[in-house]
Amino acid sequence: MSTPSSTNDSKACESQTSDYSSLWYPYAQMKNLEVNLEVVEAQGVNLTMSDGKQLVDAISSWWCVSHGYNHPELNQAMMEQVNKFSHIMLGGLKNKATEQFADKLVEITPKGLNHVFFSDSGSVGVEVAIKMALQYFFNQGNQKKTRIVALQRAYHGDTTACMSVCDPAEGMHKMFHGITPEQFFLPAPSGGFNASEEAVAEDIALARELFEQHSDTIAAIILEPLMQGAGGFNFYSPEYLNQLKALCEAHDVLLIFDEVATGFGRTGKLFAANHTQVCPDIMVLAKGLTAGYIGHAATIATTQVFEAFLSDSAAKAFMHGPTFMGNPTACAVGLKAIEIFERDNFLDKIEEIENILKEELLDFSHEEIVETRVLGATGAIEVKEAKHHHGIQEFAAERGVWLRPFERYIYTMPPYIISPDELRKITQVMKDWFARERD
Ligand code: PLP
Repeated sequence: MSTPSSTNDSKACESQTSDYSSLWYPYAQMKNLEVNLEVVEAQGVNLTMSDGKQLVDAISSWWCVSHGYNHPELNQAMMEQVNKFSHIMLGGLKNKATEQFADKLVEITPKGLNHVFFSDSGSVGVEVAIKMALQYFFNQGNQKKTRIVALQRAYHGDTTACMSVCDPAEGMHKMFHGITPEQFFLPAPSGGFNASEEAVAEDIALARELFEQHSDTIAAIILEPLMQGAGGFNFYSPEYLNQLKALCEAHDVLLIFDEVATGFGRTGKLFAANHTQVCPDIMVLAKGLTAGYIGHAATIATTQVFEAFLSDSAAKAFMHGPTFMGNPTACAVGLKAIEIFERDNFLDKIEEIENILKEELLDFSHEEIVETRVLGATGAIEVKEAKHHHGIQEFAAERGVWLRPFERYIYTMPPYIISPDELRKITQVMKDWFARERD
């Protein structure tokens, strides 16, 4: 596709025409990219395409549209705020929607998390958490604690500090390893969600060893609690986190939970932290925070972390302030999303989703499958090689389902309002793929 000629007649720009799409798509080789599925409407769990076909969205638009599309109450909450003012800066001004949302987040997150710093996306929320952890120690006169520990198979976003804590060997940002800040990595916890205290001992021993050798330079450890998502749906045990918390306390290392993907019910409880006895020092929320309506993130800190920034010196303040932080429209829709989540017992819906996913996927096997895994409203099939799912997106779309596999994973993370029949339609397509006729 050729771009229309520009009205700018400068010679320098004339040479810059392109044969490719003006829209640069994410995670895509643009040389041969064909995006021919156009959404014209979305309602509930359904995407309506330009040819009139409807697809059930199996992945909630990258795991965020928890309440389904075009939710009348969310639409109304957003429009009511837009009609007052859609945005107002948080520098020196306050507004009710943002304040109420912060109060609500403090109420529903683990006890001890009391101070909410808003930003615009999950990646920025993680950047904020890392910067906050470093400055927590700087403000106490400790300039040595500058490094972060992360897990292999981790994914924490696409910006620079986030890239530095994504898996350095297999992750999508591996080409930047060596350029981004150098961090420590521990093996991805093994043993699955139900691993016992004894079963996680080996993984914890490695963390202990690292902390014993390097805690003088370690500010924090960041992890996706219980479910490593984009790193391949590695589910691990609450026991690992319980024991890790004790190590963090012993070695003066802050514990950061990146609940961007796990937050708001995805693992079966409101937050993954609720499966554990742990309150992290810092927690990051995004995605479901606004039910997928608008980008926003919350980085929530304990009083202990927050108080390290209190001082008579302005230099100790947290020098961060994205233009759109605390955007009232995002906060209004987020507040309404939590009200609906609580009122309509979404945790019961998630339990029902988990039961169906377990019933449909856990016993399913095929020679191309390594394992099937389910936790909360997440079901994944790990195949032996990426080529084993090549073509499944088109296969599923022809059968009325929107799937987007990656690496060696075919998965569903549906909106919580999905009906049992709609969910079974998704799992059936995932299974039918392996039974298809091959040429
Ligand atoms: N952290 C985790 C665990 C994620 O899964 C993601 C996105 O998938 C991010 C951070 C980045 O969030 P965003 O895409 O909103 O920047």
